[in-house]
Amino acid sequence: MLEISDLVCGYGQVAALRGISLTVARGQLVALVGANGAGKSTTLRAISGLVPARSGTILFDGQDVTRAGPQKMLRLGVAHCPEGRRVFPHMSVADNLAMGAYLRAADSSLREDYARIYASFPRLAERRHQMAGTLSGGEQQMLAIGRALMSRPRLVLFDEPSLGLAPNIVEQMFTIIGGIRDAGATVLLVEQNAFAALDLCDHAYLIEAGRIVKAGSGAALIGDPHVRAAYLGG
Ligand code: ATP
Repeated sequence: MLEISDLVCGYGQVAALRGISLTVARGQLVALVGANGAGKSTTLRAISGLVPARSGTILFDGQDVTRAGPQKMLRLGVAHCPEGRRVFPHMSVADNLAMGAYLRAADSSLREDYARIYASFPRLAERRHQMAGTLSGGEQQMLAIGRALMSRPRLVLFDEPSLGLAPNIVEQMFTIIGGIRDAGATVLLVEQNAFAALDLCDHAYLIEAGRIVKAGSGAALIGDPHVRAAYLGG
């Protein structure tokens, strides 16, 4: 579904991605793990068209989308669930969800999706008229996920969904993300919580200083001595 080849991206003088290649097959959950500043968020931003490629290519369903831009990527079915809550704080929960669906026609399928998201996240249902900025961290993260799902994405890019959440909520978050894959979407998951991501994924990549340095099944990376020493606390 997604094929990235030799992608180079940067910010001014900073070279964030130094030629990365990775593929995400349809229906898979692929994890991208690595340290702070390795280039994980930049990879997701490049896919969703928020950071321009300096060179290399991004193919989505065989189509060259390297310079497509964010609107086009959203239209193609790519949803980006960004790091840190990034909900619209002065809008209600319901209006935040509506923002995720702004490209869709207001038909009965929209009502079904609200119902589905409120069923998955009962906290959001209870707080649907509350301003998003007053939700707890975990609730805002759930809202960000719900908002991404409202676009009925085919590929969901998750950036650090577990960041700053209490351990019991983290577990719930990973269950939800696994469920999104099981419901038929394709997922690219960026996580610092490397063990949980590797445990959940179908395939994984390790990124260090803007380069992919290892790839394999989650189990293979969990068993890798370098990964164990550097990312899994030995
Ligand atoms: P983290 O886990 O800390 O979020 P990351 O792996 O997601 O890290 P990126 O956010 O992709 O890393 O950053 C890669 C590199 O690009 C870092 O050196 C970072 O300082 C730099 N960078 C990221 N965003 C910008 C920006 N807007 N302007 C300048 N440099 C940036």
